[in-house]
Formats: sequence, structure tokens, C-alpha cells
Amino acid sequence: KADHDGKICHYDAVMDQKSREHDALVSDLRKALVNNQFFLNFQQQNDIRSRDVTGFEVLCRWRHPVRGLVPPSVFIPIAEDYGLIKNLGIWVLREACNEAVQWEHPYRIAVNVAPQQLSQPDFVDLVDDILATSGLSPERLELEITEASIIDDQTNVLAVMHRLKKRGISIAMDDFGTGYSSLAALQIFPFDKIKIDSSFIRDVYCDPQKAAIVRSTLLLGASLGIPVLAEGIENAAERDFLAQERCCEAQGFFFGHPMDRNDVRAITGYAAGLQQAG
Ligand code: C2E
Ligand code: MG
Ligand code: MG
Ligand code: MG
Repeated sequence: KADHDGKICHYDAVMDQKSREHDALVSDLRKALVNNQFFLNFQQQNDIRSRDVTGFEVLCRWRHPVRGLVPPSVFIPIAEDYGLIKNLGIWVLREACNEAVQWEHPYRIAVNVAPQQLSQPDFVDLVDDILATSGLSPERLELEITEASIIDDQTNVLAVMHRLKKRGISIAMDDFGTGYSSLAALQIFPFDKIKIDSSFIRDVYCDPQKAAIVRSTLLLGASLGIPVLAEGIENAAERDFLAQERCCEAQGFFFGHPMDRNDVRAITGYAAGLQQAG
């Protein structure tokens, strides 16, 4: 280390500090499930014209005892890298189904599924088990997957998707347009919904390029007979543009922020212990 000048040593120290913090976060994340630090938020999805609620997306939250709320953009990638996403994903699905089954109004729930979950050999069995033990009707369940899920093992994923759909579960393509082969994915995989990524929705009414992409996606959905939902609508101008272009469904802060369990129950109605047939 004699040839290191001061700058490089400083840089090493910063790197060390960063990697210690990262290691600490990983170690905390490993314990977070047994320590009950995860909880769910629910964000409404709406008919873009009538504003009627059509369903809720389930979003995972981590309340760290010291750091407070850690965003999923931070902890989901770590969970994926360190083999923790399968257990976490199953916990989310089970918790979401157990919650939704108690609602008076049987709204659909949309649950995010990570690529590693979809390729785990017992995934469909686990879903079956959760549906059976919760009593949630499979028609109320939508699974959101991204392009990252389908590029690795196309044959297996296709088979898994068909098995899920046979049960009445629907499958949405999340973050549409952000990957490399969104169009190829639509051609091969039987998606029930396209969720246009929020990056195309932001300022779409005054950005001709985004407008062109969004219009083509809506046209594509219409031609293929796949409903399209616009993600991340924040204001009336974005909503009006999408409505005018005949988008049917929307999700975003303009309609409602992600809510905790009690707030969502105020919308869905809550009947403790209610079990749905099916
Ligand atoms: P996503 O599945 O695309 O979820 C939508 C994200 O957009 C959520 O962020 C939501 O809070 C945010 N959002 C909704 N409306 C608006 C809006 O109008 N403006 C803006 N700026 N943002 C909006 P969140 O909850 O931070 O989640 C981020 C990502 O983390 C999700 O993106 C999803 O990829 C992942 N994630 C969250 N929960 C889970 C989970 O349980 N399992 C897995 N595998 N991934 C999850
Ligand atoms: Mg999603
Ligand atoms: Mg998305
Ligand atoms: Mg995403």
C-alpha cells in the first residue's frame, strides 16, 4: 500500500464504509421477515373516466428499526441478490390474499412477482396453497411480472404462466416499454394486461415523443385485445391525455397514494373473519 497516495486511501476508506453499510443492510434484511418488519401498502387502480376503483396493487414496505422506512427500490434488489426474495415474495402474496379475502367488496389485487420467484420449481404449488388456505378466489388475483422474468427461461415461464391462467389468475406485464424486447414478449407470452411504465406518462401531454410512444402502446393493446393501464398518473393533464387516447385504466398519485391496511379497508369495507366462497 506504500504506493497509494492520500486520495486513493481516502477513496478506499469511503468504499469500506459503503460496503460495511451495505453488509449491515443485508444482515438486517435477513432478519426482517422473522422480526415482522415488513408490511403492505395498497394503491388503488381506477377506471380512468368514471374513477371507479378497479383493484389494488400490493406494495411491500420495510420499516427498519433504526433507518425507518427503506424504499423497495433499495431492499428488493438486495433481496434478489442475496436469495431472500422467494421467502419475501411468498410472504407478500400470503399476506395480501389473507387481507383481501376479508374485504366486503371483492376487488382484484395485483401482486408483484420477482423473476426468481417465477422460476422456482414449486411456485405454482405455493400459489395454490395460498389460494386454498386464504380462500381467495383466483379470479381476484393478478400477478405483475416484468420483462426480466421472461428472458431467462422462456419455455419454463411460458408453462408456468399457462398453469396460473388455467386457475383463473391473470398476469400483467409491469413497466412496459422499459425493457429491451417488450414487443417480442407480448408476442410470445399470454399477458392479460399491459402496464405502461410511469416514465412515459410523466408530462406525456406536452412531450411529443412520449405521446407517440403512449399512443402506439394503446393502439397495440387495442389491436391485440389486451387492456392497458397507465402507471404513475400524477395530475389532471396526464389523466386527460390518457382518457382522450382511450386508455381504460390508471394508477397514480392523482387517484390515490399507496395506503396502509386501515385506509384501504375504509374503501373496500371490512368484515373480520369473512371468508369468501371459492
Ligand atoms: P412497480 O411495481 O412498478 O410499482 C409502482 C411504483 O410506483 C410504486 O413504488 C408506487 O408507489 C409508485 N407510484 C405509484 N403512483 C405513482 C405516481 O403517481 N408517481 C410516482 N412518482 N410514483 C408512483 P414503490 O412502492 O416504491 O415500489 C417500487 C418498485 O418496487 C415496484 O415498482 C416494484 O417493482 C417493486 N416492489 C414493490 N413491492 C414489491 C413486492 O412485494 N415484490 C416485488 N418483487 N417487487 C416489489
Ligand atoms: Mg407493479
Ligand atoms: Mg410498474
Ligand atoms: Mg418496477
